[in-house]
Amino acid sequence: MRNSHLNIIRPSKKNDELIKKKLEKNEIVALPTETVYGLAGNAYSKKAVAKIYKTKGRNKYNPLIIHFKDMKSLKKEVQTNKHFTKLSKHFCPGPITFILNKKKGSKITKLAHKNLKTLAVRIPKNEDIQNILKIINFPLAAPSANKSGSLSPTKALHVYDEFKNKFTILDGGPTKYGIESTVIDLTSKPVILRKGAIPSRTLEKFISLKDNNEKSSLKSPGLIGKHYSPGIPIYLNRERPYSGGALITFNKKKSKNKNCFFFSPKIKGRNSLDIFSLMRLIKNKKFTSISVNKIPNSDIYKSIADRLMRASIHE
Ligand code: AMP
Ligand code: MG
Repeated sequence: MRNSHLNIIRPSKKNDELIKKKLEKNEIVALPTETVYGLAGNAYSKKAVAKIYKTKGRNKYNPLIIHFKDMKSLKKEVQTNKHFTKLSKHFCPGPITFILNKKKGSKITKLAHKNLKTLAVRIPKNEDIQNILKIINFPLAAPSANKSGSLSPTKALHVYDEFKNKFTILDGGPTKYGIESTVIDLTSKPVILRKGAIPSRTLEKFISLKDNNEKSSLKSPGLIGKHYSPGIPIYLNRERPYSGGALITFNKKKSKNKNCFFFSPKIKGRNSLDIFSLMRLIKNKKFTSISVNKIPNSDIYKSIADRLMRASIHE
C-alpha cells in the first residue's frame, strides 16, 4: 500500500538529504512529530511560509509554531525567562509550545507571526524531524498537515488522503501522542492557550498557572471557531447514536455494537490521545454522524474533550 504512493518516503540518510534539498529550495514537506504530522517549510523564507498558508487554506491571521533543533537556535529568536527555564528543563524537547517575546534581530519571516511581538516556539522530540532539523540551517514553520478546519493527521496516510501528491511526505509511523502540543503563554503570568499533549496538572507541578478564560484564549488567534471537523456532524453528551450514525464511548462494556467505538487514552500500556484517527475511521466507514458519550472528567481527557467540543461546533 505504502509503496504505491511515490511521494510517501521512509526516513533514511538518503531520503533525509532529499527532504533537506526540498526545504532549501523553499518547498514544503510533511514531517512526523511526536504530536501530529506537520506541513513544514523554512521559517526564514516568506516564499515557503506563503506556500504553507496557501496549501492549508489557513487564515492568514493565524500565526505558526516555529520548530527548532535545540535551545541555542531557539534562543536566537526569542527572549527566554524564568518560567521558560523551569519548564524547558523538564519538557524540552517535547510536545509543548511556548509563547515568548520575539528578539529584535529575529530572522523569522513576518508572514509566520503576523508581526506580533511574540513568537510560538517548540523543540520537538521526534527523531525523524530532529534528523531533518539537524542537517538544515534554519528552523521550520510547521502547522498540522491538514486543510484548515479538518482533522489533524496522525499517520502519513492521513496526510496523503487529503493532499495526494502535492508534496513529499516523510512516513515515521503513527505519532506518539496523537494530539497537538500544549501551547503556553509565558509572556506574563503563565497561561495555557491550547490544551494538548501535556496536561495542565503536570505543568502545575513546576509552575503556577493562571486560570484560562475566554479572554486569554482570544490571545491565540487560531483558537476561534470551528476546527478538527471530520466532515460529519458531532453531537456531545449522547447515550445513543442517531440512525446511520456512530457512537464513541469511553466504557468498554458498551462497545459491542458495530456502530459503537471504544476510546481510551491508555491503550497497550501507553498514553495515546489520538481521537483524530478514530473520527477519521468512523467517517471512512460511511457513518453519517458521530455521537459522543459523556467524556470522563479526569485530567488526561481534557485535551480530547477540547478537540471533540470544537469538532462539534455546527456552522
Ligand atoms: P496550529 O493551528 O495547530 O498550528 O497551532 C498553533 C497555535 O498557536 C494556534 O492556536 C495559534 O493561534 C497559536 N499561536 C501561534 N503563535 C502565537 C502567538 N505569537 N501568540 C499566541 N498564540 C500563537
Ligand atoms: Mg492544526
